[in-house]
Amino acid sequence: MKSGASRLNPTPLDTASVAMTPALEAETERLLSQRTRDIRFSPEMVRLYRAKDWPQRSKIARAWMVWVGLISVSFVPVSLLLAPDFLGLTIAISGLLVPALHACTYLVWRKPRSASVEGLSVLLLMISVMIAYGSLAVAAGGADYERILICVMYATTIAIVVLNVDYIWTLSLMVCSAAIFFGFEIFNPEIELKEAIGTSVFYATGMYAATIARKTQSILGQKAFLMSLRNQYRSDALRSANHQLEILATRDPLTGLGNRRSATDLIDRLWRDPAIPKARIAFIMADIDLFKLLNDTAGHAAGDDCIRRIAKTIGESVREDAVFRYGGEEFLVVLADTSPDHAWTIAERIRRSVEALAIVNPGIDPVDGSSDVVTISLGVAFAREDTAPEMVAKWADDALYDAKRGGRNVVFLSNAHAVEGTPQAQPVAAPSGHSVTNSRRMMT
Ligand code: GH3
Ligand code: MG
Ligand code: MG
Repeated sequence: MKSGASRLNPTPLDTASVAMTPALEAETERLLSQRTRDIRFSPEMVRLYRAKDWPQRSKIARAWMVWVGLISVSFVPVSLLLAPDFLGLTIAISGLLVPALHACTYLVWRKPRSASVEGLSVLLLMISVMIAYGSLAVAAGGADYERILICVMYATTIAIVVLNVDYIWTLSLMVCSAAIFFGFEIFNPEIELKEAIGTSVFYATGMYAATIARKTQSILGQKAFLMSLRNQYRSDALRSANHQLEILATRDPLTGLGNRRSATDLIDRLWRDPAIPKARIAFIMADIDLFKLLNDTAGHAAGDDCIRRIAKTIGESVREDAVFRYGGEEFLVVLADTSPDHAWTIAERIRRSVEALAIVNPGIDPVDGSSDVVTISLGVAFAREDTAPEMVAKWADDALYDAKRGGRNVVFLSNAHAVEGTPQAQPVAAPSGHSVTNSRRMMT
């Protein structure tokens, strides 16, 4: 059913938004009311968070794999200058093995995986890289031993901060890296045991700081996620409240049609639009006949039901234009681009379909073979370039009044459109092709 009330199309939620449930809302509120560091997600919340965070998390991880792989390859020409004796080993480890390990991990991060697969892939990568470069350090010996080890430790520390895996995996990475570093330090012939312990503790402390930084970043990410969830459901609630308000303000609750206010809004819009020729705008004012009798005999509830059914029928009879409940049992149809023939056809269609509903009005005494079904009378008026809409409404109302006086269950055209010299209240022929069996189109 078309009606004049503005169509309410709630903005669809963006695709990245989460399907909220009351349980998730409650969890969000509970977590946000706690201290940030105490935030612990339920499995469902973890699933949602990981899904939402995936694009960013995976992009960073893949970028890491590409760039660290490339940097590793770039060590080959550097070592050609600095340590030509180990060129073969450098090519094997730095130029081939390490980039290959990064390429494999890149492949793991191309698709969403479980948290364990993500964490394990990073852990295995970093362990392998440390052992590979550690072996290079052992082969290089001398001052290069320590230098290479520190370089790879440095890279691991950055990886801990940059790669967003579950805390347990970050912690494992830290412990394994520190242990491997310590292992290589102990066997460094250039330094003593206490020196090895000292540097290992020093670097392990740095890595632990990186681990804490990663943890803090993850918790803040989770909090930001919770805030975005809260924003989402609050704005959803606001949008839905606005939608309800708009319905209340513009719709008639009994029939679902636009109310008088929305009729006025539409009419104002039509009149403000200079592109719309006013002479093509028609108002059809319709009023249920002898409705008070039905109300008084069948009761108010039956009256309401009758109004509802007639409203539905009118809405279905007027496909392309706007139907409003204008008053108690009065309806207004606004045709925005019509001709007299078309307006008449529509008004007549409404009249006939209401009659076809065959709602019995028990207040009518069907004498002389007259019918006791509920009917409707209609008045049609056209606008003019220089007329206010109130005037057109009055003309339509006058025509309706005349239709009532003319016996009801008829369509009348406003006498404001009478051709000069046409006698008033004369029945005129319906436009060609239209049946006038039960109604007359009259100049009143
Ligand atoms: P006419 O053919 O001249 O229009 O006669 P009528 O009886 O339809 O006209 P009248 O204006 O005397 O009666 C209209 C009645 O409609 C009066 C009022 O009680 C009733 N009415 C108005 N709004 C509602 C409504 O929302 N529900 C019901 N059940 N009745 C309503
Ligand atoms: Mg009435
Ligand atoms: Mg009335």
